[in-house]
Amino acid sequence: MEEKHEECGVFGVYSQESRNVAHTVYYGLYALQHRGQESCGIAVSYANKISYYKGMGLVPDVFADGMLEKLPDGDIAIGHVRYSTTGASQLLNAQPVVFTGKCGKVAVAHNGNLTNTKQLRDELIAQNAVFQTSIDSEVIAILINSLSDGDILTGIKRACTKFKGSYALVIMTTDKLIAVRDPHGIRPLCIGTIDGEVVAASETCALDAVGANFLRDVKPGEIVVIDSTGIHSHMMDGVPKKSSMCIFEYVYFARHDSVMEGYSVYEARKLAGKLLAKNYPVEADMVSGVPDSGNVAARGYSEESGTPFVEALARNRYVGRTFIQPEQSQREDSLSVKMNALRGNVRGKRIVLIDDSIVRGTTMRKIIKMLRDAGAKEVHIRICSPVIKHPCHLGIDIQTYSQLIGAYKSEEQICESLGADSVKYLTVEQLLSTCEGAKTGFCLGCFNGEYPYPMHDYEVDELKINKH
Ligand code: SF4
Repeated sequence: MEEKHEECGVFGVYSQESRNVAHTVYYGLYALQHRGQESCGIAVSYANKISYYKGMGLVPDVFADGMLEKLPDGDIAIGHVRYSTTGASQLLNAQPVVFTGKCGKVAVAHNGNLTNTKQLRDELIAQNAVFQTSIDSEVIAILINSLSDGDILTGIKRACTKFKGSYALVIMTTDKLIAVRDPHGIRPLCIGTIDGEVVAASETCALDAVGANFLRDVKPGEIVVIDSTGIHSHMMDGVPKKSSMCIFEYVYFARHDSVMEGYSVYEARKLAGKLLAKNYPVEADMVSGVPDSGNVAARGYSEESGTPFVEALARNRYVGRTFIQPEQSQREDSLSVKMNALRGNVRGKRIVLIDDSIVRGTTMRKIIKMLRDAGAKEVHIRICSPVIKHPCHLGIDIQTYSQLIGAYKSEEQICESLGADSVKYLTVEQLLSTCEGAKTGFCLGCFNGEYPYPMHDYEVDELKINKH
């Protein structure tokens, strides 16, 4: 749960007839809320027009007060929940991006982050393109338009040869819903069906939320076009043999009831806990997870070791994840509001505390202090991923080496800095073994510095200079 920013969630629906498709998107976005809590939006295609509404905040708040009902009935709709990865946090940057161009009216919703935004933006500005926002998703929209010859598929195919970075897109014209996944498959995207309608979503939990049946994952490098003639698959050129899905989707980002690439997120997390128990055992009275993301693994640890699972921390369900606010100062303030130690459970106890990862260490340090103040005798930290040593610019906001405690401290130093009795991480090999059931390769860039491709915009300033 620590200080990582979510990326975004996308959802789209195609219906053969006009109805309140915005409601379907609303429930889909509700299920994807964990992927972005800063802003959201829904766009509806009807009668050759696109109507949309976007706002700052959570889905139920933005679409309260009759705003959902104000969206017209239509046959296609897409939606987006956002955490800012590029572009400042403001309404102007909320998605979907809606524009009128060579292909008529188009709406684009993007999960991921381009690593060559600056270069593409500069090139487009040199060709007199005008930008309304600071987000890479507008670069995606404008490039698709500028490379199109009036056919949206041509524009998308050509634009995808220029994009570097991660992108899972849902795109809507007045007669098509299109789902696109980058050639490395870094961010997830799947499609499902319900009563003859087609749904596209970042995660299967959103399909479940609207009663859709899972059809399949969108393949890395695939462009799926859904229109009145059916579902049509097109592949980009030059798709690498090995895909590189972000392994953190299994560790943390996805909801644990989602299934990605044929493998349950819940299973991966439980296995991570079991491996921690097997490889890094410790004499303890109880094992607990940092809520909510450490809980499944804590149950796995408990099953494997026989150490009782007991809750150590109570979470205030009405406060978003600690990293919902873009500013560090806001994040730090929110922790003590967000959780509290269960004194009766932890007093005098030797605790194994499981979390998904450690980024800066500031949150974990406070949690350990909270547990010790509540009377815990020992606090042993077990982490379901390897040490994060490198930034991520592929959709998760870990921008510089200086933000990462693992980039400049050894495991012993991290343990000392956090004030824990012991700290152990899964190795890269162990983490990979928790995901063996997934039909995909993985990006491991934040652990080993090997990204699916060069980091372009980011290379000079952060990756090379800021290393401590
Ligand atoms: S660098 Fe890490 S967080 Fe970023 S996409 Fe790769 S595995 Fe995911």
